[in-house]
Amino acid sequence: MNKKVILISACLIGDNCRYDGKNKAMPDLDRYTRNHELIPVCPEVEGGLRVPRPRAWIKSGTGGDVLDGKTIVIDENGLDITSNFMVGAKYALEIALANNVKVAILKSRSPSCGKGNVYNASDLVNGNGVTAELLIRNGIEVITV
Ligand code: SF4
Repeated sequence: MNKKVILISACLIGDNCRYDGKNKAMPDLDRYTRNHELIPVCPEVEGGLRVPRPRAWIKSGTGGDVLDGKTIVIDENGLDITSNFMVGAKYALEIALANNVKVAILKSRSPSCGKGNVYNASDLVNGNGVTAELLIRNGIEVITV
């Protein structure tokens, strides 16, 4: 029987793709992913951002507002990096759909991967990151860790 495929934030499996050049490897990864095939993705790197990179956040509102064109993503220098986030989110969705992914495990509080809470500068607000929101809108279950 084919293994089910899970999309996972690359930093959660130890890729040093975070803005600070570090990772957020999950010590209990196997508990979530045993007997599944994993597809790691870092939407920000896939969107063309480098490692390390300036910290980024949604200017106001949520990833859904970004997708709807109501707000932008900026980095700590004030640069508009919305297009990078959109490219990365679409890449993640494409690879998920191409591999029949039903579930994604994504890093919490990220402006890309976060589900439930995201930062507007230093304020934590209710909402999803850009990639998490796009996956959810397309019927993919997102588990946040
Ligand atoms: S965009 Fe997602 S996968 Fe990439 S570093 Fe941020 S939380 Fe991790």
